[in-house]
Amino acid sequence: MAGIAGLLTQIVEETILKRNAPEQEKERYIPPSSLAKGCMLYVAMELMGRPKAVLEPRIQRILEVGTERHRRIAAYLSPVTLAREVFFVDEEYRIRGYCDAIVYIPPGRDLGLAGFYAVEIKTTGSDEFERIVDEGQPREDHVRQCQIYLWGVDRYYQHTIPLRGGIIFYENRDTLEHHLFEVSYNEELMKGLLAQIERMWIGLKQGELPNDHLPLDHWGHRYCSYLEVCEVGQQAMAYQQEHRQPLPDKVLAQIIGTRIVRKQRREGKGKRGGRGRNLEELVAELKWD
Ligand code: SF4
Repeated sequence: MAGIAGLLTQIVEETILKRNAPEQEKERYIPPSSLAKGCMLYVAMELMGRPKAVLEPRIQRILEVGTERHRRIAAYLSPVTLAREVFFVDEEYRIRGYCDAIVYIPPGRDLGLAGFYAVEIKTTGSDEFERIVDEGQPREDHVRQCQIYLWGVDRYYQHTIPLRGGIIFYENRDTLEHHLFEVSYNEELMKGLLAQIERMWIGLKQGELPNDHLPLDHWGHRYCSYLEVCEVGQQAMAYQQEHRQPLPDKVLAQIIGTRIVRKQRREGKGKRGGRGRNLEELVAELKWD
């Protein structure tokens, strides 16, 4: 077979051969979600195939449900979807992954917003969802992942998909509310990240793990699947334990109050016309001022 048919036949065979290759012979690439964590030590350990902590079955189920939700959410966008699970790979930095979806807003729908956008879908619990909405900005690692999508799709498809920007689509796992953020491409952020990757690969070739990790006070260590075997992660836990400040009463009251208000808001929305109290009303009612 010649031409494109022959080429695609070859690609099918290569894919099957790669899939069946022994684990140690597989070429290693960086998944965008790992890179997005912001810890090059994590990325390096993953590339070296270091075993991770086994997830408890409940967490595993949560992740599997998350994957199912991604499909459902992507389906809601189908009237404007160009493609889902859009593959990209970069051989220079060895990054490979899938952008959740690329949507296209036609000029007939909105002339000012017309164009292509890379979509990243995230599901979160209520507390985190409401914190993100209250703060009015997506989580830093989610922003990083969106930047990697924008960079990777543009580079792999050689600017043939002129992305206008990214969208981070959050869904609240408990209430199914959603909240979307628009993210613009941040060249400086990507330049910094790519420089970190370059340094990491140079070190790895010399058999060295990078000394490039999250700051000791970062929340990410606690949830890292390498925490148990990572010296820096252990130091971070000790540091956080040592520097844990008791919360001032006012802050504690604020947290409790915010949770009450959020709970009421959630429940209030279920009742006809109910809106619940806002934080100021609750503070006045409990005489916390
Ligand atoms: S425990 Fe912390 S430093 Fe170690 S790999 Fe995980 S995130 Fe990085």
